[in-house]
Amino acid sequence: MLHADVFTELVGQDEAVQTLRRAAAAAAALLAADAAARDPRVTVADPDPDFELDPATEDAPPSAAAMTHAWIFTGPPGSGRSVAARALAAALQCVHGRGCGQCAGCHTTSAGTNADVRFVVPDGLSIGVGEMRALVLRAASTPSGGRWQVLVIEDADRLTEAAGNALLKAIEEPPPRTVFLLCTPSTHPDDISVTIRSRCRVVALRQPPAEAVASVLSGRDGVPAEMAAWAAAAAQGHVGRARRLAADPQARERRDAVLAVPRRLTGVGACFDAASALIEAAEAEAAAAVAETDATERAALQTALGAGGTGRGAAGAARGSAGQLKELERRQKSRATRAQRDALDRALVDLAGFYRDVLVVTLRAPVAPVHTDIAPLAEAAAGKWTAEATLRRLEAILACREAITTNVKPKIAVEAMMLSLWRG
Ligand SMILES: [Zn+2]
Repeated sequence: MLHADVFTELVGQDEAVQTLRRAAAAAAALLAADAAARDPRVTVADPDPDFELDPATEDAPPSAAAMTHAWIFTGPPGSGRSVAARALAAALQCVHGRGCGQCAGCHTTSAGTNADVRFVVPDGLSIGVGEMRALVLRAASTPSGGRWQVLVIEDADRLTEAAGNALLKAIEEPPPRTVFLLCTPSTHPDDISVTIRSRCRVVALRQPPAEAVASVLSGRDGVPAEMAAWAAAAAQGHVGRARRLAADPQARERRDAVLAVPRRLTGVGACFDAASALIEAAEAEAAAAVAETDATERAALQTALGAGGTGRGAAGAARGSAGQLKELERRQKSRATRAQRDALDRALVDLAGFYRDVLVVTLRAPVAPVHTDIAPLAEAAAGKWTAEATLRRLEAILACREAITTNVKPKIAVEAMMLSLWRG
């Protein structure tokens, strides 16, 4: 049996995991060959008798081509793009060269404290060029742990054009021990530039099947089987969302409120009320999500700047502090906006799940419902609406999501959607 390692967290992604295991093995072989070339007396290869390769990798020894210096992880939200990138980063720093999950290399990488692994997690709406230049410069330095310098960019689709160009230059002329791991929803040019894409190997993650998500929730997290099955279906393949639904009663309440929307749409006034309620709920959820980080950051900055101060230079210092505070406020506002959009989008995905379920009943499609707990409502709606009318409602939700990503004011997009959902 295989040990639980850094790849175990990747739920329902067998193919991707195999690619990444091979890459890790090839990377370790490269390091060993390097070390042997420098000093023939040194052997870096670790015998590690506990490690059992899976049969597929056993008969095919790692070829150097299995590793490359730039990777893109794509897949729908919640499929585990950043989990996959982190797992490969850990495997590259693993002293056994495979992501054992036990050694110092694996631990420090997973904990985000490895000196040679930098994570870029943009909390605003985009990653700027200044930040990217600094990161690229750092990623070019010699790895202090003697293995690899790894730069993980989550949400690489949020790079500004200038930041993308700075990154491209580094990927085009990579330092020998530097590895770039990018995460984006897809390889569409809207998400990642064609030139960056052409220099990276793509690992496509799929939406994990509900059964795989449920078995992780019940097997590893100890969620009761029935709750796990419900949460996995309701989360539509989003592992993190499934976990939250299973663990957080407030998340379940918010979902219930969203799923009550279709019943509440009885007239124009009700549509506008429902739109306001949905927006306000997303704002409240986002505010709660960022409040703690905001306060901690503000307190840390104020401590760093020192409170007050007099005498020579104090006026200049005060002007400088005001600038830093303003910059922090700008970043926090940008993060809050993003959190609101994420919360609203999650609500829209839940809502779409309901209309999808109605369509499934109407068409008698042999697929499992998303919202098992409100199946009777979907059946009742299917008795009233034609397939075309349900499809139009589903399309209205997709159009709303699309409009919000192209910067239409959320309130306006949601109001238009509610009217379409009511009229059908
Ligand atoms: Zn390890």
